[in-house]
Amino acid sequence: MVRTGGGSAAKRIGLQVEIDALRLLYRQARPAAAMSVLLGVLYTWLMWPRADPSMLAVWFALLLVAALVRAVLFLRWWHRRPSGVSILRWRRSFHWAAVAGAAVWGLGPVAVVPPEDIVAKALTAAMLVGLAGGAVATYAASHGLTVAVVILLLVPMIVALLRHGGDMEYGLAALMAAFLMGARSVRVHSSALAQAFRLRHELQHANVKAERSANTDALTGIANRRAFLQRAESLSDECRRLQQPVAVLIIDVDHFKAINDRFGHAAGDVVLREVALRIEAACRRSDFVGRIGGEEFAVLLPNTRIDEARHLAERIRGSVGHAPLNWDDYPVALTLSLGVAEGDGPLRDLMRRADAALYGAKAAGRDRVAVG
Ligand code: GH3
Ligand code: MG
Ligand code: MG
Repeated sequence: MVRTGGGSAAKRIGLQVEIDALRLLYRQARPAAAMSVLLGVLYTWLMWPRADPSMLAVWFALLLVAALVRAVLFLRWWHRRPSGVSILRWRRSFHWAAVAGAAVWGLGPVAVVPPEDIVAKALTAAMLVGLAGGAVATYAASHGLTVAVVILLLVPMIVALLRHGGDMEYGLAALMAAFLMGARSVRVHSSALAQAFRLRHELQHANVKAERSANTDALTGIANRRAFLQRAESLSDECRRLQQPVAVLIIDVDHFKAINDRFGHAAGDVVLREVALRIEAACRRSDFVGRIGGEEFAVLLPNTRIDEARHLAERIRGSVGHAPLNWDDYPVALTLSLGVAEGDGPLRDLMRRADAALYGAKAAGRDRVAVG
């Protein structure tokens, strides 16, 4: 039975949100990186007759290197398929590769564009604003990265235009600055995306918690009747399929009502918790324990013959009967009666036989194991 794990659920959900954001970035950035190279080809072609060809060639080579770095990063990601929290180790490389690409695009044209060529400047401004728009859409999952990339793309050219002076230059600079200001709204998209990721994980977490509590006995923390029957059914089916023997124990606390009457209901609860712990401690990892009634427990023993099952039943009986339980430092002596059955029939039959054996153990004087 899976118990409620410790650790902070909020922290785990926070990490999941970061992982989702990074996955989205990697998915979105592949086509965007390819588009950046295509635009680089177009820009080089348009600028060829206007700018210094050797400068343009150097810039284009740098653009290709930046694209290659990103291609290698994406290929490694695709090849390794990282999962879980280890994904976050891929964040820094992604950010650096994106920033390097943006720096090549943002700084290169400043060096390439001839200061007297207003058409080349308008073309460059249009290209950079288009790229910045693409970056806002591509990197929306990370607000910080989007801001860094948009600033790198636009600010160098705005500064260059202002330094060149002239009405057209100021106009273009104002246009680019307006876009830069507008790009601040990406914060809204980033937080909406993070909120969507968070809600998805909170919902998943709530579902897991609800299912766990529907299957868990609130007093003892072990499987409740419903969960025991369900899991025991599938375990015994599995044993039958593998042609393995399967055994069932049904365990009942003797004269438990007298414990409640003598020490009170709260003491009875403490005792039941302790009984559950001792049963679990006596069982093997492969056995499955549940609380199927008030002071009644059951164990499914996969791949177990009757002798072994009876041996385990005696061990459980001894673990409770030979050492009194502690209630408020007061020793409470208890005994158990157990019914055991083994076979390869359906679980229903095994349970019926184990129950009949338990009835026999009670009738024969309690504090004993009976085989059905
Ligand atoms: P027997 O040896 O024949 O099994 O006698 P018994 O007293 O153990 O059995 P009986 O069925 O007469 O009484 C079971 C008692 O278990 C009655 C009920 O109040 C008590 N009980 C059931 N569930 C809980 C629980 O969650 N907490 C406590 N404290 N008592 C419980
Ligand atoms: Mg009882
Ligand atoms: Mg009972």
